Amino acid sequence: MTDATALPGQPRGAVVSGPATARAVNVLAPNPSAMTLDGTNTWIVAEPDSDLAVVIDPGPLDDVHLRAVIDAVEHAGRRVGLTLLTHGHPDHAEGAGRFAELTGTKVRALDAALRLGDEGLGAGDVITTGGLELRVVPTPGHTADSLSFHLPADRAVLTGDTILGRGTTVVAHPDGRLGDYLDSLRRLRSLTVDDGVHTVLPGHGPVLEDAQGAVEFYLAHRAHRLAQVETAVEAGHRTPSDVVAAVYADVDRSLWPAAELSVRAQLEYLTEHGLIQG
Ligand SMILES: [Zn+2]
Repeated sequence: MTDATALPGQPRGAVVSGPATARAVNVLAPNPSAMTLDGTNTWIVAEPDSDLAVVIDPGPLDDVHLRAVIDAVEHAGRRVGLTLLTHGHPDHAEGAGRFAELTGTKVRALDAALRLGDEGLGAGDVITTGGLELRVVPTPGHTADSLSFHLPADRAVLTGDTILGRGTTVVAHPDGRLGDYLDSLRRLRSLTVDDGVHTVLPGHGPVLEDAQGAVEFYLAHRAHRLAQVETAVEAGHRTPSDVVAAVYADVDRSLWPAAELSVRAQLEYLTEHGLIQG
């Protein structure tokens, strides 16, 4: 599912992938960068026999992209019934207001500031638009407002930026907190172990068919980085930028500002747990 191709009749620049699962299709936003990988994945999710679709993360404020999402929904004989946000970062949420205007739908998100309409979104909520079942899984850590959506019928989970299709994500300190992030990864691991989820539909990058492996990799990566940060502090690197230079030497420098956010989150975590002196 990594080879996305443009469908005939799609607006220029729009990339609609084949179905990732029975119920989920991705429209790739034209905003690739070091931070967004190939671009933002805008997910269209619908029950096979339903004329209503749920759109998750309309993406950046880009009319060509937003109209491509609507075209893809209509191409399948549906209309948009509801818009959801995994979190408030602009590459996921900036276009939500315009998308809601174009489709006449409400926007539901954890952060009240991002909502359009009177309905919030939080732990334990179940979306049932058009017979589709999406269970809301709180996954704070990348940001405080990060949510994932469990799609039990396809044994899949839409993870936003909590798990990406390639590489690892940023714990965006101070909004994102490492302790929360590790708890969220464990929550996702239990979805794979206890609920049989095997597919990750990420906010960026390709679909992952080994969800449990992906979660284990993320947990191991976080533990490894945390040990490296602790070692760097013990070696006398005191400031976040010093720690980044010591620990992220293998990472492209364009990613160092993002790495510094993760390092700040890790230093906070180590201090709170009494592992280093604050
Ligand atoms: Zn994000």
